[in-house]
Amino acid sequence: MKVGYIGVGNMGGPMCRNLIKKSNHAVTVFDLNPAAVKTCTDLGATAGKSIADVTRDADVVMTSLPMPKDVEAVTLGDNGILANIAKGKTYIDLSTNAPSMVKKIGAAMAAKGIAMLDAPVSGGTVGAENATIAIMVGGDRKAFDDALPVLQSFSANVIHMGPLGTGTVAKLCNNMMAFCNAAAASEAMMLGVTAGLDPAKLVQVIASSSGNSSIFKAFSERALSGKFSPPSFALNLAHKDLHLAMELADELDVPLPLGSATHNLQRMARKMGMGNNDSSTILNVYEKTLGKTVKP
Ligand code: NAD
Repeated sequence: MKVGYIGVGNMGGPMCRNLIKKSNHAVTVFDLNPAAVKTCTDLGATAGKSIADVTRDADVVMTSLPMPKDVEAVTLGDNGILANIAKGKTYIDLSTNAPSMVKKIGAAMAAKGIAMLDAPVSGGTVGAENATIAIMVGGDRKAFDDALPVLQSFSANVIHMGPLGTGTVAKLCNNMMAFCNAAAASEAMMLGVTAGLDPAKLVQVIASSSGNSSIFKAFSERALSGKFSPPSFALNLAHKDLHLAMELADELDVPLPLGSATHNLQRMARKMGMGNNDSSTILNVYEKTLGKTVKP
């Protein structure tokens, strides 16, 4: 199978490299950042010159891009995927996108005889490296079944959620919960440290107690290192995800008091100039407020 892959950053990069290493598919890669492309061509992928170039001959085209507007530009923009993909082929979006944007792009693809799957992923860069990420997929069942071998080459947990858009909704629910957890972890760490606890011992206790979670593991490693840059998952992207969850909640009239408080906390961190840090940088809002750090 010929695979076109667009966007090989923190998440798309390791997923694409596993696809190259663990399958026989011919992979052509495009990214605005040539250094990111090189990490894939070093493993045998071909560098595409443009979106059109990676799309034209591909059986499957995948994107892993930052914002819904980026996915819109790459798919529906001038000389984008829609303009170049052949009838009967499949487009898979691995980004965390807006459900409304997924449906807009899906309708445009369907009008040209292209199947679209929304397939956002979870598990962070470590999960992407180890091919243990979850992929939650929305879209036609047959298109899903046909795409499954490609998706399984970089994920051990591929789950079909239902029609187009349902993968994205599942992703927004998961991330809202994860970010609320990280906010609670910030408060717990600052409370404990302010009361005089050794932060490493507090982390050790929580890691084997009821407050533990996979997000706490990633969060506490950052907190104890005191290093929030470069990001593994940028705060700006986490803020985008929570914005999309809040937008969906508004549309459906579902109250999200915890999600909303956490979204405001992320916004405070962004306004303090930390948008390009790792998403765990919300801890710095508490640290700056209290004038003390978790890392001694
Ligand atoms: P990133 O910024 O590290 O990577 C995005 C890549 O897209 C970059 O290499 C950038 O150069 C490229 N790009 C942007 N616009 C482009 C365009 N027009 N044409 C070609 N390439 C373009 O972001 P990331 O962390 O890899 O996130 C990608 C998506 O995955 C986002 O939607 C994010 O929310 C989601 N996600 C990220 C993580 C994580 O832990 N980082 C986890 C799950 C989901």
